[in-house]
Amino acid sequence: MSYPIQKTEAEWKALLAEKGAEPRAFEVTRHAATERPYTGKYEQVWADGSYHCVCCGNLLFSSTTKFDAGCGWPSFSQAVPGAIEEITDRSHGMVRTETVCAQCGAHLGHVFPDGPAPTGLRYCMNSASLDFASGDDARDGAAPVNDNDKNA
Ligand SMILES: [Zn+2]
Repeated sequence: MSYPIQKTEAEWKALLAEKGAEPRAFEVTRHAATERPYTGKYEQVWADGSYHCVCCGNLLFSSTTKFDAGCGWPSFSQAVPGAIEEITDRSHGMVRTETVCAQCGAHLGHVFPDGPAPTGLRYCMNSASLDFASGDDARDGAAPVNDNDKNA
């Protein structure tokens, strides 16, 4: 599988360190490790904003699709279209659907068919794979609308 953004392991490691990502971010995103439940920094974050790939900044989720699944990992009912690629994962004696960043191939987590309506999906993510940007101006990458500018 080839992704638009390609880096060596050493380059990813250096980039994540430079960004101040948590220490386990490298193992999670590049080696498909899973953080322990209830330990991720975004599991109980409910602020408005957007969630990006910690490796490449690709917009993955809006906070409006985040919900409390009670599973110990940040969970979303919907991904930004085209942001995530799904791969059949047969590791650990299970058949699951792995989710990776469509831009850089970073492992994000898995998607399960037991989420809330209307999608019925639960994107079960590692906090270590995500980078949260708060505020409306970060949402969907849209430019902020400021009506006051007209009167200035
Ligand atoms: Zn990425």
